[in-house]
Amino acid sequence: MNKIVTDILVIGGGIAGASVAASLITRTDVCLVEAEENLGYHSTGRSVAVYAESYGSRIIRQLTKKSSPLFKKAEKDLTQNILSSRGFLFIAREDQSAELEKLNIELNESLKVSKLGKKEAQEIVPALRSEYLSQALYHSEAQDIDVSLLHNYYIQRLKEANGTIHMSQRVKKIDNSSGQYIVECDSLIIYCNKIINAAGAWADQVAELAGCKKIGLRPLRRTAFSFDEKKWQYSNWPVVIDCEENFYIKPETGSIIGSPADEINDVPRDVYPEEYDIALGMDRIKNALDFEAKSIGSSWAGLRTFTPDRDPAVGFDYQHKDFFWLAGQGGYGIQTAPYMGVLAADMICPGTYSPKSEENELKKSLDPNRFFKN
Ligand SMILES: Cc1cc2nc3c(=O)[nH]c(=O)nc-3n(C[C@H](O)[C@H](O)[C@H](O)COP(=O)(O)OP(=O)(O)OC[C@H]3O[C@@H](n4cnc5c(N)ncnc54)[C@H](O)[C@@H]3O)c2cc1C
Repeated sequence: MNKIVTDILVIGGGIAGASVAASLITRTDVCLVEAEENLGYHSTGRSVAVYAESYGSRIIRQLTKKSSPLFKKAEKDLTQNILSSRGFLFIAREDQSAELEKLNIELNESLKVSKLGKKEAQEIVPALRSEYLSQALYHSEAQDIDVSLLHNYYIQRLKEANGTIHMSQRVKKIDNSSGQYIVECDSLIIYCNKIINAAGAWADQVAELAGCKKIGLRPLRRTAFSFDEKKWQYSNWPVVIDCEENFYIKPETGSIIGSPADEINDVPRDVYPEEYDIALGMDRIKNALDFEAKSIGSSWAGLRTFTPDRDPAVGFDYQHKDFFWLAGQGGYGIQTAPYMGVLAADMICPGTYSPKSEENELKKSLDPNRFFKN
């Protein structure tokens, strides 16, 4: 077995591992290991690629907003756009009026979101059925994310600064009886001072290998599929999402992505879509939108992994002071990755980034130890 000595080992080559590794490499030695042959093979490669400051819990929305200048910085470095204009339209039937109003009040605390009547919403998305729709909320500033460009940006920064990346290296054993971590992968042994657990759906399993308690992460399967819709010119429409997140569509050039917005209990594994979930998604979409679509193009499923309170876990483990959690990003791990990467890096190597004092509250909300107090 080849031996590697490094200061920090990042486990997992999805967007979370890549973003924190790219921030830390300016400060210390970083090695990243990925179990699969390709980086981004699991959740990162299966997202629907939306950036919306109106999507997710209060904490997620703050993390997303704080990522905005970092997306801009990456675009400047790349001289290419990572984000492009899209918009987000929450729709409601009559019986969902109370839900929509709740969302309206909550989102308008920090964003500019407009409440639209049926006609106004249909001006934006003419396929919305009159007999279905009652009202809508429009957030014009939501964007599409070029996920592979963002992911590659982090990977390139890591490589250019002499960080090492090893694919097809699943971490199988972690020993720290000597005070230093000795980590056994498929054909590597890594000696390191600190571990960052960015293993996505597998993060609880990795923690157990290191002798830590599990957080109780829940990998929830979500289905997505694409279809063409001949009846409408849809490429400039916003994402249309049920205000209680029972389905959504995201128009793209040449096809529409649809999802039943399912959250099916699963286990860490390579997941595939079920026919039933695709049919359910299409049924809900066609109830709300006057679509003809007769066939499905491609379909896929991925895991959105949540902590018990559905906000991420970012911080050192309470018992193992050199074991760092960067997990539980749920369905928001791409839009929050730029900020979570720098915040995590600063917790590990203080001074990497200069968080303002109010960000301490945010750090507290992300502390993984909230799950271990009883
Ligand atoms: C259908 C769908 C739609 C989504 N849409 C959006 C969206 O619009 N916007 C958004 O922001 N987010 C979205 N998400 C969520 C987003 O994709 C995830 O939050 C994000 O990709 C999580 O990144 P990650 O790096 O933590 O996990 P992953 O990308 O899963 O990476 C974890 C990596 O760790 C590796 N690993 C695991 N165990 C080991 C081990 N023992 N040794 C070595 N490596 C290991 C895995 O192989 C994996 O590659 C969506 C997700 C899905 C499924």
